[in-house]
Amino acid sequence: AKSLGKDQYQIFVPHMYQKAYQRLQIETDLRQAIQQRAFILYYQPIIDLITGNVIGAEALIRWQHPTQGWISPADFIPIAEETGLILKLGNWTIKQACHQLHLWQQNNIVDSSFSISVNLSAYQFAHSNLLEQIDAILAETQISPQCLKLEITETAIMENVDAAAQVIASLRQRNIQLSIDDFGTGYSSLSYLHSFPVDNLKIDKSFVQRVNDKSDSFGLVNAIVQIAKTMGMKIIAEGIETDNQLEQLKLLDCQFGQGYLFSKPLDVEEMTKFMASFRKA
Ligand code: C2E
Ligand code: CA
Ligand code: CA
Ligand code: CA
Repeated sequence: AKSLGKDQYQIFVPHMYQKAYQRLQIETDLRQAIQQRAFILYYQPIIDLITGNVIGAEALIRWQHPTQGWISPADFIPIAEETGLILKLGNWTIKQACHQLHLWQQNNIVDSSFSISVNLSAYQFAHSNLLEQIDAILAETQISPQCLKLEITETAIMENVDAAAQVIASLRQRNIQLSIDDFGTGYSSLSYLHSFPVDNLKIDKSFVQRVNDKSDSFGLVNAIVQIAKTMGMKIIAEGIETDNQLEQLKLLDCQFGQGYLFSKPLDVEEMTKFMASFRKA
């Protein structure tokens, strides 16, 4: 039996053994995949809900596993974090996203107001090298800092409040934009928003998808929008799937959003086409 602390024991059953084995296998494969660059970035358009323009894209990582096919980031990012592999992977992701943005800029697919959003994990965020790495990437890809948005969760901030405050201050100095991801799902209190001035709040899709339910999410989203307004932050709603949700969000004065209603995450070719057709429309 494995001890879980005072008076708590857990029996090690075959099912758990299998899970532990699978996890170890993924870790081994992940190391190899990083060397072999078996990852690809997909991009989901972010829309100005008022004008209908594409104002940016969120980069979302995908892993093509040699035998298991596509593996979701929800399954391998946690393991990459636990093993520290996220530093290499995260650095690749920022570089790749900035490189792609540079290509889109060069080909006049996007203008200078278009921004690329990259997810950062808690581990990456706490790592002191992050800023130097970002500086190097921006210089190499010739991307101006205002065009890069970094997404971090409340949980990542709360895990290490002091480190977070420092990193956020340094990012602001550089004019790199910051978004709080999955806003509303963390256990944190709202008071921390004063200590962590960020540019955007992303409303978690679990609220967006229940926004029609007047008694529940509508009020909550309304409160989040009001807070964001008084603090000068922009709101991005994620996971918009229906016209009805879009209408409710507009009523609530939420200006930006993304979701399957507009587009699922796309590969580079599809994303390029999507933006081209949007400009003509
Ligand atoms: P997230 O940052 O909250 O990303 C939004 C997720 O919602 C994405 O899942 C996206 O494909 C999905 N989504 C978008 N629109 C809709 C919609 O209308 N309905 C529904 N039901 N889902 C929608 P994905 O791509 O599987 O990513 C899952 C999570 O993995 C992300 O959640 C993020 O936390 C993490 N992740 C993805 N890429 C990276 C990365 O490069 N680095 C790090 N650290 N984490 C990443
Ligand atoms: Ca995100
Ligand atoms: Ca999110
Ligand atoms: Ca999430």
